[in-house]
Amino acid sequence: MEFIGHGGKKLVERVVTDKKEALNKIKGLKAVPVRRQLATEAISLAYGFFSPLEGFMKKNDVDSTCKNMALVDGTVWSIPIVFDISDQEIVDYGIKVGTSVLLTYEGNPLAIFEIEDIYAYDRDTWSQAVYGTTDSKHPGVKRTLDYKDKFLGGKITLINPPKFNPPFDQYWLTPKQHREKFGQKGWKRVVAHQTRNVPHSGHEWLMKHAWMATHAEMSMEETEEGHAITGVLVNAIIGEKRAGDYIDQAIILTQDALRKYGYFRDDVHMTSFTLWDMRYAGPKEAVHHAIIRTNLGLTHHMFGRDHAGVGTYYGSYDAHRIFNKIPKEKLNITPIFVVEWLYCPHCGEVTCIGLCNHKKEWQGFSGTVIRSIIMDGVKPPRLIFRPEIFDIVQECAEKYGFGSPFVTQEYLDKGTQAFRIDPL
Ligand SMILES: [Zn+2]
Repeated sequence: MEFIGHGGKKLVERVVTDKKEALNKIKGLKAVPVRRQLATEAISLAYGFFSPLEGFMKKNDVDSTCKNMALVDGTVWSIPIVFDISDQEIVDYGIKVGTSVLLTYEGNPLAIFEIEDIYAYDRDTWSQAVYGTTDSKHPGVKRTLDYKDKFLGGKITLINPPKFNPPFDQYWLTPKQHREKFGQKGWKRVVAHQTRNVPHSGHEWLMKHAWMATHAEMSMEETEEGHAITGVLVNAIIGEKRAGDYIDQAIILTQDALRKYGYFRDDVHMTSFTLWDMRYAGPKEAVHHAIIRTNLGLTHHMFGRDHAGVGTYYGSYDAHRIFNKIPKEKLNITPIFVVEWLYCPHCGEVTCIGLCNHKKEWQGFSGTVIRSIIMDGVKPPRLIFRPEIFDIVQECAEKYGFGSPFVTQEYLDKGTQAFRIDPL
């Protein structure tokens, strides 16, 4: 079946699954080893997470992304997807436009890269355009400044698909597989919940709110008997970690546990992930997330407060405002703007800003409060944090986190990676 991706173009999938064919294709190609970020972006490109991109971006597309938030052909695009390389490596590997190289990861073949462009780009122009600042303390700006001398643009073909380590293997789906799954479930509408968090009740209600908003004008007659036609997809971002983040395994397993323990019906809720290093580009990153989820076949995408932001670089609702500037026909996914959920002791329930009149009594679900609850190891009230989720967080700490559900240096050094590339 042919699927349509972002920009109304055919969903990209450039993957060779036949081993013999792959070995044939890479004969005589010079091997260029890549670090984890480039490996994950090559994988994402090949499977169409970044559709309509077929490979790392060329200069004209980077330029157009910075100036117009669009590719040269007018497709909305907000964050450059680039392959950086040093001048010395270009010489050492004999890289020239018109040639192809074999990208390798941890010593094994990964993908064929057809070199179509070699270029430099002004980092300040880029940072200002994408991040709205040139401050090197911004993690996205820092990443941009740290890129090597030059960039290579051109098509990517994956010749050795990644293997996912448990428990990630149960949650990995390519864009095509996401769509097939939604089809099997009979979902007509699917709303994305972007997360890097273990869910507390506030998160659970954000999702419930998004589900209701997505389902809103559909009548019960449209709902086949007993069968949900609107779904929530938790699509976790798995990528570069920073000390203090939740460990990846805890994020995925606790999100799925909301379904497993019935807080969402089996046919309403599903968990998967996308490999991506957060850029913390606030509104521009919100657009990027919307593009990825369009490619996964989602119809709606929730955006909350401070989506993909960092520090004080963006206003709390900048990521909402940016969607007003994008013509509806240019982005085939409907943003659902969700408000903040909190606990109101007076109402005795979880409620949201803008509803009840007990502001003075409200207890917010701040990350700090939730972290201290987890660190204390004493089960909190179930209205604040579900007991099953609490147990899984502790289990994940033991099983995957060297005793901590938060990223430590030990986890960074020795923790299980989401994927590996085996010998071809
Ligand atoms: Zn209240």
